[in-house]
Amino acid sequence: MTTALDSPPLDLVLDDIVRNHRPRTEEGSVPAGIPHLSSPPFSRFGIAVATSAGDVFSAGDADVPFSIQSISKVFTLALALSADDPGALWSRVLREPSGTSFNSLVQLEVEHGIPRNPFINSGALVVTDHLMEGFPDAAGHLLRFLSREAGRRIGGQGPFIDEDAAKSELANSSRNLALAHFLKDFGNLRRPAQAVVENYVRQCSIMMTCVETAKAALFLAQDGRGAQGTVVSRSEAKRISSIMLTCGMYDAAGEFAYRVGLPGKSGVGGGILAIVPGEGAICVWSPRLDSKGNSLAGTAALADLADRTGWSVF
Ligand code: GLN
Repeated sequence: MTTALDSPPLDLVLDDIVRNHRPRTEEGSVPAGIPHLSSPPFSRFGIAVATSAGDVFSAGDADVPFSIQSISKVFTLALALSADDPGALWSRVLREPSGTSFNSLVQLEVEHGIPRNPFINSGALVVTDHLMEGFPDAAGHLLRFLSREAGRRIGGQGPFIDEDAAKSELANSSRNLALAHFLKDFGNLRRPAQAVVENYVRQCSIMMTCVETAKAALFLAQDGRGAQGTVVSRSEAKRISSIMLTCGMYDAAGEFAYRVGLPGKSGVGGGILAIVPGEGAICVWSPRLDSKGNSLAGTAALADLADRTGWSVF
């Protein structure tokens, strides 16, 4: 991976990022409605970079599993696009930034049940529904994909679904169920609303480490080629990254593009995935969130890393 000529090796940079960005005092919030997400201590901080050259650099709590939450939406989209005629999906969901919070109901009604993009909850429900056509157990299908791409460290557990977390989130899913029922009413959901939300919540409850997440996303940095062969075509890989850039951080997408300059996708578990096209995938995790639901320390760390390395799509 190329970095600025006068910059120190990446492992030293990552160690320094951890020193500077690991939270020392409790700031930010945890999401209401998903009780399991409040358990990791606020001082957790991990970062990993998987490179196209086959190296993995990591620092801090990069081997501690966390709940990937909405980062799963990137992988579900890739699987839905690779499983089916992409045109069929794109008639059901748009590719425009929403400018609203990730679980907003208002826009969906005004826009007649066509979600603005696949990375807000309503869009992800449509993508999950689409994937369920070919794979009724969409969450299981996603988990197998992630396990394959992430590989297994000696002694490492690999990605898994936290079923207790999924059950408790499902019990608090009134809003996601409302979105699903809205979609159904507009004729944009084929499976029963309950079954789609169940799959969606289990996808969100996948536990992975920063190292595993960066490795699993590497296909997006290398023209769609993953650890086990082609995941999506080169054009699809570019397009998924484009949607990450414009929609991956919800109503903070503009601010993230300004500060970091890379396609990114956050989750309310505190993880952020970022792609450096041609170079590698980065995953950072720190559980406390800003008001838009994005990791506070994670965003600051990515801005710092992008500045130090010169990585940018601009
Ligand atoms: N499971 C969460 C929800 O549906 C995911 C949201 C997120 O990570 N932004 O609300």
